[in-house]
Amino acid sequence: MVTAKARAVHGPDQNFREAELKRRELDTTDVLIEIKFAGICHSDIHTAHGEWGEVNYPLVPGHEIAGIVTDVGENVTKYKVGDRVGVGCMVDSCGECKNCREGEEQYCLKGNIPTYAGTDKYGEPTQGGYSTHIVVTEEFVLSIPENIGLDEAAPLLCAGITTFSPLNHWNAGPGKKVAVVGMGGLGHMAVKIAHAMGAEVTVLSRTLNKKEDGLKFGAKNYFATSDEATFTELAGTFDLIINTVSAKIDLNAYLSLLALNGSLVNVGAPAEPLEVNAFSLIPHRRSFAGSLIGGIRETQDMLNFCAEHNIAPSIEIISADEIDQAYKRVLDSDVKYRFVIDISTM
Ligand SMILES: [Zn+2]
Ligand SMILES: [Zn+2]
Repeated sequence: MVTAKARAVHGPDQNFREAELKRRELDTTDVLIEIKFAGICHSDIHTAHGEWGEVNYPLVPGHEIAGIVTDVGENVTKYKVGDRVGVGCMVDSCGECKNCREGEEQYCLKGNIPTYAGTDKYGEPTQGGYSTHIVVTEEFVLSIPENIGLDEAAPLLCAGITTFSPLNHWNAGPGKKVAVVGMGGLGHMAVKIAHAMGAEVTVLSRTLNKKEDGLKFGAKNYFATSDEATFTELAGTFDLIINTVSAKIDLNAYLSLLALNGSLVNVGAPAEPLEVNAFSLIPHRRSFAGSLIGGIRETQDMLNFCAEHNIAPSIEIISADEIDQAYKRVLDSDVKYRFVIDISTM
């Protein structure tokens, strides 16, 4: 059994404190990973603050994990000691239901097992990547291509796949007009990936503050949603809109920007319900949809795609003592564009 050093939060309004985690003894198909970097996702903050339902504290968040394999169970075939690997938002699923068999483990009919704030198949609470080590069954471990740094790989495991999967599913590519709502951790990845897929990308952000970055990341156009003229000018334009904003937005105004057969896909998760007027959908056969991360096979495809197209998130590396401060800055939208914890500072 490995004792990992970690940073845990002990209640909804508590700061992070040093903690120790017992990682389980390796089962035959388990991989022990020494974590090098862990990204900070908005979901970590919602969960740590108890905003998404009851949490069993102490909680160690973190589901954007990159590191090195340091031990493997006797039946592991995919990985060996020294491999560069990642772990994303889930660490297991039933493996038998229709969705699991189709490689859509995130939609497991029995519920996937989240990397933290879940219960594993041994009945133990799962604890995430703000820690020095983690044990994961090899089926839920990803291989990180050589030309992606481990620090930059970490945010791909949630922000990358969360945006890649809907872009892939709704066929973003040449000839398609894609709008990305919000230019945060998710949004900036959506811009880079959609551009690399060959789509024409437009950013819809509250202000034009990050316009220069958006164009550098591959957007062709950048509009401020605080300007009402934006909604008149862009009416009926887009084949696909990816909404990365987790605050409540005027959905009907955004739906009016879709072309015939267009889809607006929510990946941001606002706490309150969103209101959809059926007449925002009916006249142009529009769809309103949601999407949750991606399956393991698709996550590996995403990593390979990013390696091939030289795509990496824009990151700011912090030490383990700066997590609380980083949370505040994420909530103030003061991050360009993802915080990544250097786990060697644990
Ligand atoms: Zn996440
Ligand atoms: Zn399943």
